[in-house]
Amino acid sequence: MIDLNGKKYVVMGIANKMSLAWFITQSLKKAGAQVAVNFLNEKMEKRVRPLAEEVNAEIIQQCDVTNADELKSFFETVKEKFGQIDGLVHAIAYAEREDLEGRFIDTSREGFLKAMDISAYSLVDVAKHAEPLMTNGGSIVTLSYLGAVRVVENYNVMGVAKAALEASVRYLAADMGPNNIRVNAISAGPIKTLSASGIRDFRSMLGKAEEQNPLRQNIDGESVGDTASFLLSPLAKHITGDVLYVDCGAQIIK
Ligand code: NAD
Repeated sequence: MIDLNGKKYVVMGIANKMSLAWFITQSLKKAGAQVAVNFLNEKMEKRVRPLAEEVNAEIIQQCDVTNADELKSFFETVKEKFGQIDGLVHAIAYAEREDLEGRFIDTSREGFLKAMDISAYSLVDVAKHAEPLMTNGGSIVTLSYLGAVRVVENYNVMGVAKAALEASVRYLAADMGPNNIRVNAISAGPIKTLSASGIRDFRSMLGKAEEQNPLRQNIDGESVGDTASFLLSPLAKHITGDVLYVDCGAQIIK
């Protein structure tokens, strides 16, 4: 059992009860941690606020990562209420639906930059805001997918953004390591969420994973949640710059 009593974490990326960020939040709470969460916009607030209240989140605040003022104000609130934090979860990604189907070569410049900005650069930006609050060291966890290192049908521009995200994990780990801040990614197998539903033919990704991975099953949110809690805990004190696969072994199969 992971013990996170007295520890404080920022979790970014809850949209609804299917969100990986929500499973991570629940796991952190089960381990005794306090949490601060964001929501993207007013529309999302309706779903996120009741969930966050269910786990007594100390902070529930709007923060679109492309909005510098909202990002600044979110971390100011975190500083006011928590003072110091022990870690941060980045479970944020976005690409236009038309860029998640067909040929990757057809990706527009605008679509490419948007996917990179929200899905990869935002990790760098939130890490920069979180670093001064991690005065006792800390741990940052982001979410990736196999499409970062292999060509996966329809994943297209998001695969390129995840490759940049995984490289950012390594550079951030090198930068922040001397301050005892660890940075890692979980590469999760496919799981039905709001974002996943934007990928064309996502059902067949789920079907293929179940047929072909060594464990012949799909992952569940709880295992991603508990793996994140482990990486955010002192149990993982010597793990940084890594990508940990929670995918029933899919990555070892050609
Ligand atoms: P989700 O839709 O529940 O979560 C994505 C979150 O990103 C949402 O809460 C959304 O509000 C947020 N977001 C988008 N644009 C934003 C912005 N500008 N500012 C702030 N927040 C923004 O879906 P999910 O599957 O839980 O996704 C979480 C992470 O897990 C993503 O990085 C995703 O790529 C990754 N992932 C998902 C799967 C899967 O199969 N579902 C597999 C591997 C990795």
